[in-house]
Amino acid sequence: MLGGGPAGSGAGRLLATWGHAVRLVTRAPADARLAVSLPPSCHKLFDAIGVRDAIERAGFVRSTGHTVWWGSRDPRVEMFAGGARGWQADTHVLEAVMLEQAAAAGVTIESRGGSLDPPSLDPPSSDPPVSFTLDCTGRSGLLARAKALRTYDDGPRTIALVASWRRDSPWPVPDDTHTLIESYQSGWAWSVPVAGGTRHVAVMVDPQRSGLARGSSAREVYLAEIAKTSVFAGLIRDAAFADGPWGWDASTYRADRYAGDDWLLVGDAGSFIDPLSSAGVKKALASGWLAAIVTHTCLVRPEMRRHALDFFTARETEIEAAHAKASRRFLAAAAPSHAHPFWSERAEEGALDDDETTPLRAAFEQLRQAPSVNFRADPALRVEPRAAVSGREVVLEPRIV
Ligand SMILES: Cc1cc2nc3c(=O)[nH]c(=O)nc-3n(C[C@H](O)[C@H](O)[C@H](O)COP(=O)(O)OP(=O)(O)OC[C@H]3O[C@@H](n4cnc5c(N)ncnc54)[C@H](O)[C@@H]3O)c2cc1C
Repeated sequence: MLGGGPAGSGAGRLLATWGHAVRLVTRAPADARLAVSLPPSCHKLFDAIGVRDAIERAGFVRSTGHTVWWGSRDPRVEMFAGGARGWQADTHVLEAVMLEQAAAAGVTIESRGGSLDPPSLDPPSSDPPVSFTLDCTGRSGLLARAKALRTYDDGPRTIALVASWRRDSPWPVPDDTHTLIESYQSGWAWSVPVAGGTRHVAVMVDPQRSGLARGSSAREVYLAEIAKTSVFAGLIRDAAFADGPWGWDASTYRADRYAGDDWLLVGDAGSFIDPLSSAGVKKALASGWLAAIVTHTCLVRPEMRRHALDFFTARETEIEAAHAKASRRFLAAAAPSHAHPFWSERAEEGALDDDETTPLRAAFEQLRQAPSVNFRADPALRVEPRAAVSGREVVLEPRIV
């Protein structure tokens, strides 16, 4: 296992729990900090990986939703459905908690000061392979890059400049547990509360257009961009600058393939989705969970190896594509309010109309309202075995195709 973020420690913990010998090699976190917002639905993955109690004990701020100024000066307060609560997590703390849980399950963890060398690309030593390498190194993508599988999206890159700010009195927002998001002329800004009156406040900027590429300092660019916002500029006015800004590359990418005979690209090592979605950690946890199931299947049921590996690539491809499409729609929604290349270069024409679920929902509604329905099998329907997850294995199940 390479890398000890949510994907690596989640996959490692599951594999160790299922009786496999797991060695996880990672590096100590960098100084840069990042607070991320996790939706309530992560609880299913925390449960599946067996870390829910440890996450609850970690004392993360529990969020009730987000407050958004997206293409508008009026806030949209969005609460999570059914009163559910998400987590606002400092990634260093999340990583430490999950690594500890992986170690408790029997994973051997080696944390090195520097970077690892790219892994060897030798063909598997046995057929079928008896060991697997899971690349969980996030954006570093040690194996993904060594195998030249990474594809960056066409179009401009995006850098996040993140700083932490503190207030002694409550932040002047509708709900201080919320993630805040504001679109502005040349980017968008977000803020996540961490603890004790501290918030991470970030701007997402284009490195070419913001002056970063012309040599301006990160701090100059950060403050100049925040000054262009309407709401965030007011938010930090009475707050004390605590630390940062730290730069994070937030440009999106995907892989041409996510699995090979004895390797998998897991979490951000495979693909990176726009942070707008607040779904990166959830995607990494789900990817780690599935990677553990696929690895386990390959090792204990070699006859299912090809199905399991293809299933992994298909699922990771599908999930990345769905997120990319949702982000294009979200960016297109704010673009008309901001006449700036940041937006015109990122908002794809037609993205807002490109919702293939609309006709499906209309058809479903028609069915729902019909006084009675007669079902008959279309002659083209067949029942065929298809890969699916059952417990901790990938199995073949009859599916209508
Ligand atoms: C600006 C920004 C904002 C974000 N906001 C959110 C958000 O609000 N909500 C959300 O869910 N997600 C968010 N994300 C995404 C989220 O942080 C990632 O999707 C998630 O952390 C991916 O988990 P991972 O385990 O795949 O990779 P990572 O968390 O990146 O973990 C990679 C691991 O590999 C190790 N590693 C890396 N390189 C090497 C090397 N060369 N040698 C050895 N070890 C190595 C690292 O130390 C680390 O342990 C955001 C990301 C960014 C950049």
